[in-house]
Amino acid sequence: MKDPNARLLDNELAFKSLFEHATISILVTDENGDINLVNPNAEKLFGYAKEELTGKPIELLIPESLKDKHRQYRQQYFKEPKARPMGLGKDLFARDKNGRTFPVEISLGYYKLGTKKMAVAFITDVSERKKAEEILRSSEETTRLIMNSALDAIVCIDTNGCITVWNPQAEKIFGWTESEVKGRRLSETIIPEQYRALHEAGLKRYLTTRQHTVINKLIEITALNSNGKEFPIELTIIPMRQKDNDFFCAFIRDITERREAEYRQNEFAENLKQKNIELEQFAYVASHDLQEPLRTVSGFVELLKRHYKDQADENVTKYINYITDASDRMRRLVQDLLEYSRLGRERILESIDCNAMVQDVLSDLTMAIQESQAVIHIGRLPVISGYTTEMKQLFQNLISNSLKFRKPGDPPVIDLSVSPKDDHWTFKITDNGIGIDEKYWDRIFIIFQRLHTKNEYDGTGIGLAHCKKITELHNGKIWVDSTPGKGSTFYFTVRKRSSDVWK
Ligand code: ADP
Repeated sequence: MKDPNARLLDNELAFKSLFEHATISILVTDENGDINLVNPNAEKLFGYAKEELTGKPIELLIPESLKDKHRQYRQQYFKEPKARPMGLGKDLFARDKNGRTFPVEISLGYYKLGTKKMAVAFITDVSERKKAEEILRSSEETTRLIMNSALDAIVCIDTNGCITVWNPQAEKIFGWTESEVKGRRLSETIIPEQYRALHEAGLKRYLTTRQHTVINKLIEITALNSNGKEFPIELTIIPMRQKDNDFFCAFIRDITERREAEYRQNEFAENLKQKNIELEQFAYVASHDLQEPLRTVSGFVELLKRHYKDQADENVTKYINYITDASDRMRRLVQDLLEYSRLGRERILESIDCNAMVQDVLSDLTMAIQESQAVIHIGRLPVISGYTTEMKQLFQNLISNSLKFRKPGDPPVIDLSVSPKDDHWTFKITDNGIGIDEKYWDRIFIIFQRLHTKNEYDGTGIGLAHCKKITELHNGKIWVDSTPGKGSTFYFTVRKRSSDVWK
């Protein structure tokens, strides 16, 4: 059998080695709080050599502001010493040689050395852990803040389809509080009957195969609120993973108002379309029927002229001429109106080579071009899909206006070009004519609106109204930019189709 003293010696050696190599810092103090033993890890932690600490009060390692409190604790402890485990919920702090204060966790042991009461402190620096906890806490706080202030309802479910997250906005749009729905199945709360099976199957499929059709996309669907009312929503579902657990978050918006606005807009557009059709019909019928009495007026005026050819006095002749002029003019107006209401009536989309079409228009306008000595540049134009008669009229009106509204004495210089955009062509026709004051830029496109008397420039004021209607028939628009006295640029667009090409 081994000598008991030798065994004691063995134990002592073992403890010594433990003390020396422990990765925890160990300090032993006596009842007076004087440090008796310091292990190498404690030397490292506090930055003092063993000799600098031995015999010194333990308060050397306590931050200034806590020293008094610590002294009281210590005296209290030695009155009734017992082992105390780590992390008793107290926030403890230590101080190293450089004055750095850091959070520690301390467990205390106790033994007697003869009559002396000794305390052993096992100290762990927990600064890193506290920092990590702080980061976690602040990220949790941030998450909570985002959840609470998000404009979207945020609803998360676990892999069983049960609700785990339900933010205040979700309470607002669905009417259930968080505590009422947490843990309940999504399919038994906000998902309408008709989508339930689909939702369950989709969830199962994603979890087994990772295949999905609705994830990470903006989808529009309906949902139920706590009163069982179905309403339209827009949502994006994002799959997430935390500590090996799958879950899904949906960001949801109530789009009832938007839908209602869309509905009202559609209704309005439909109404407008109907009104336009009625108006066109009215214009057609009115202008058509007006022609008849007009013909009668013209007929009788002709008769009067012939009848009083020799006997009419100066005044009668003058009046008859007035009537003739006025009824001619009225006939033109009525014909224009008729033509306007007929525009695009029997529409067939055709492929139009704008180059050839514009050459046709120019040859129709040869007289006016020669008379005015106009210089006309035509750029490269595309082949588009459009309504042939109407498109020709559009080019014809714009070019003839540029010839007509020239500055007296200045030969017109006209430039026609096109630039392609994503979904439309923008045509541009520039002249060096009299120009248009900005306050009339909209008015000139209204039917029968003119800026001049018929004596200054001939016309009825329907040309640009035609142009506007024609561009609208081609899903485009028309507008003008101009400097009075310098010239005007008319722009118009027509929708581009896949078959359109440059020629
Ligand atoms: P009209 O040519 O019969 O007068 P439009 O509808 O074609 O009718 O044009 C309306 C008005 O717009 C014209 O009376 C004229 O004042 C103005 N306008 C049109 N084109 C031009 C142009 N190129 N330069 C200056 N003014 C123009």
